[in-house]
Amino acid sequence: MRVLKFGGTSVGSPESMRGVANILKNEAESLVVLSAISGTTNRLAEIAEYFRSNQEHLALKEIDVLEGEYKIFIDELIQDAVILKDLTAILDARFIDLKRAFVKLQPAELERSILAQGELMSTSIFHRYLKSIGVENHLLNALDVLRLKSDLEPDSEFLKSALSQEVNAKPGLKIIQGYICRNAFGEIDNLKRGGSDYSASLFGAALSAEEIQIWTDIDGMHNNDPRYVTGTKSIERLSFNEAAELAYFGAKILHPSSVHPAHVANIPVILKNTQRPEAKGTRIDMMGSGTGIKAIAAKDGITAIKVKSGRMLLAYGFLKKIFEVFDWYKTSIDMITTSEVAVSLTIDQNDQIEHIRADLEKIGSVEIDENQSIICLVGDELQELPGLAVNAFSALKEVNIRMISFGGSKHNISVLVDSKDKVKALQALHENLFQS
Ligand code: ADP
Ligand code: ASP
Ligand code: MG
Repeated sequence: MRVLKFGGTSVGSPESMRGVANILKNEAESLVVLSAISGTTNRLAEIAEYFRSNQEHLALKEIDVLEGEYKIFIDELIQDAVILKDLTAILDARFIDLKRAFVKLQPAELERSILAQGELMSTSIFHRYLKSIGVENHLLNALDVLRLKSDLEPDSEFLKSALSQEVNAKPGLKIIQGYICRNAFGEIDNLKRGGSDYSASLFGAALSAEEIQIWTDIDGMHNNDPRYVTGTKSIERLSFNEAAELAYFGAKILHPSSVHPAHVANIPVILKNTQRPEAKGTRIDMMGSGTGIKAIAAKDGITAIKVKSGRMLLAYGFLKKIFEVFDWYKTSIDMITTSEVAVSLTIDQNDQIEHIRADLEKIGSVEIDENQSIICLVGDELQELPGLAVNAFSALKEVNIRMISFGGSKHNISVLVDSKDKVKALQALHENLFQS
């Protein structure tokens, strides 16, 4: 069996949904994972924020607008009058619930519960659309099978047994929501923005699927970020390690955690374009396609922290004390470099920064710079390639490099730059590494 995930733009219009149905023609036994209709999760986040800031009238107004758009969507999509009536009633109930959520739920749960509505609605719509064109299928509920443990990791054992049970009980095509899950308290939660890729990988691993396909709006992983660089090209084949580094370091086509479950279960991941199903896309598997730089990615929102010891040399235990601070505030470190008297490191989450600063100041003097970007060159066995680092850095002669990390993994070289220099750096590296 295969798992196929379709992202927001792939289900973003009645026409796109018809395209997805077409792709599923020969997928009689597959599990189909859907995102919310494109734009919906952002709109729901806005609605939740209006509720949170006591601007209930704005929230209700936005819900009405969204409801109107969904009505137009389903009217255009579904010809069968009985199924359309049934679906209209289901969506009506969802929008009524959305308006009442404010009264019924506590603030923290309110936001997560509102955010979940996008995937619940897109799967309801697609399930009934397929029925209306004579394609039998079952609608599963991700909230019944995917839950997080108290350490926020997915409960893989539970998923395996609960999802297998559902799948075995319901032969044929199955539809399920990406992104949404329950937390350790049983409340509605999610896998963070872009999390449907992660859901697909978790479901694929739980079912020992033969393949996980991620269908999106581009023909696979490109060798640089197409949002900032022109002339990027699709990569035919990547190893799990390469894909994981790219996803983690900002290639938005894959959620940062989405490669790991497929990698552990050794299930190939295929990235495909819904608008051009005939294009080859990218295959991610254990083998990959040999050494060399495959792609460049950038991750924004990075904070650089430098801690300088009061002594002439880094004392024994200095690093341990620093790491303990980050451990305490559950903040993971991406890059790290050390010198005779100082340590520089980067983090990608800022919510505890003032506590972290206060604790680090007990150890040494602290400098913090926000708005940094990590630029990452990815490829297997990069250390084996003589001259590669020199070539890469010569491309960056116009850019002020704040940190360099090479050798931490065999699959990447990373540099830290001010975010205002990111596009210039991506373009210069692209020209130097892929076009000359
Ligand atoms: P979906 O809604 O299908 O999950 P996303 O918007 O999350 O789609 O991911 C696809 C987008 O990722 C592409 O449209 C592209 O702009 C962006 N992207 C960023 N880096 C890359 C890359 N290296 N290769 C391909 N796409 C990338
Ligand atoms: N709908 C969610 C989001 O927009 C999850 C996803 O699309 O993967 O972030
Ligand atoms: Mg995505």
